[in-house]
Amino acid sequence: NKQVLLKEFVSGFPKDSDMLFTTSSVNLKLPEGSNGVLVKNLYLSCDPYMRGRMSIPLFTSYVDSFQPGSPISGLGVSKVIDSRNQNFREGDLVWGLTGWEEYSVISSTESMFKIQHTDLPLSYYTGILGMPGMTAYAGFYEICTPKKGETVFVSAASGAVGQLVGQFAKLMGCYVVGSAGSQEKVDLLKSKFEFDEAFNYKEETNLDAALKRYFPEGIDIYFENVGGNMLDAVLLNMRIHGRIAVCGMISQYNLDHPEGMHNLMHLVIKRIRMEGFLVNDHFHLYPKFLEMVIPLIKEGKIVYVEDTVEGIENAPSALIGLFHGRNVGKQVVVVDPL
Ligand code: NDP
Repeated sequence: NKQVLLKEFVSGFPKDSDMLFTTSSVNLKLPEGSNGVLVKNLYLSCDPYMRGRMSIPLFTSYVDSFQPGSPISGLGVSKVIDSRNQNFREGDLVWGLTGWEEYSVISSTESMFKIQHTDLPLSYYTGILGMPGMTAYAGFYEICTPKKGETVFVSAASGAVGQLVGQFAKLMGCYVVGSAGSQEKVDLLKSKFEFDEAFNYKEETNLDAALKRYFPEGIDIYFENVGGNMLDAVLLNMRIHGRIAVCGMISQYNLDHPEGMHNLMHLVIKRIRMEGFLVNDHFHLYPKFLEMVIPLIKEGKIVYVEDTVEGIENAPSALIGLFHGRNVGKQVVVVDPL
C-alpha cells in the first residue's frame, strides 16, 4: 500500500521533505466488529485547509492536526472494495475523508457520500460536485445574499472555489471581477469563466488603485479567499451595506504572525457585514446544490477547470503548489482513474 505520511509538524511554507512517500506491507483488513468500509482511492484532493492540519495542534483550530508518522488524510473519491456497513456495498463509488494511500480503512462513514451521478467525471467530486463546490454555493448564496446587478469581487478567483463563485455571480446578473496570480489565470477568468474583468494582483503596485479602476462605484460583495493586503485594500472600496464573505485567507496560512489590518474602521463607516463561514455547517444544502449544479454543468452553463497530477507520489508537491499558486484550477491527484 503506497502512502504519503506527514513526517513532522510544519512551520512556515510546507516542503517536500515534510512528507514521506513510502510503501506499507501491512495487509489492510476490516477489523472484527467494524462498521466501516475498505476502499481503493481513485482521486485525492489538495485543499488549502490541509496546511492547518500540518501544524502543532492548536485548541483554536476547527480541525484536528495530522499525526506525524501516519498517512495524511484528506478528501477523495474512492471505490468500496469491502463493507461491513449496511449503507455501502462493494463496488459503490463514494467521496469523503480518506487517507493519502492506495487503500484505506474508513472506520467512520459519517462524512462519506455515495456518488449517485456517475455520468460526470468522478474527479469532480473533489471539486465542483464536492466540498469546494458546496463552499462556493453556501458562501455566495447564503452568506453574500446577492442581488442582480450588484458588483462582486472574488480573490484567488481561478481556484477550486473562486472559479465557481464568479460563475454563480454571473448567472445571477452581477458585474464580476476576479484577481489571480498570473496572466494565464487572468486570461482563463475572462475567456473561460466569463468574468467581466480580471487582474494579476502580483503586477499591481497599488491594490487600492487597481480596485478603483475596476469598481469606480465600489464593491457590493467581496468573496474573500486570500486576506492580508487584499482585504485591507477591499475595505477601502466597499459600498455602503456591502457584504464580505470570509471563506479563507490563504496568504496568512504559512506566516508565524498574521499580518495586521489597517482599514477595519470601514466596516463601521460603510455599515458592512463581514461574516466568516465553514462549509461543514451547510451540508444540509448538498442535495439542493446538486440539483442546481448538475443541470448547469450538463447544459454547459457552468464550466470547471482542474489541474491534475498523476501518481500518489506527486501528491506532496501538488499540495505545496497551492501556496505558490502553481495550480491552475482545482488541484487533483489521480491515484487510479479506474
Ligand atoms: P485554490 O484552488 O484557489 O488554490 C489556492 C490559490 O491561492 C493558489 O492557486 C493561489 O492562486 C492563491 N494563493 C496562494 N498563496 C497566495 C497568497 N499569498 N496571496 C494570494 N493568493 C494566494 O484553493 P481553493 O479554491 O480550494 O481555496 C480558496 C480559499 O477558500 C482558501 O483560502 C481556502 O482556505 C478557502 N476554503 C474555505 C472553506 C470554508 O469552509 N470556509 C472551504 C474550502 C476552501 P494565485 O495564483 O491566484 O495566487
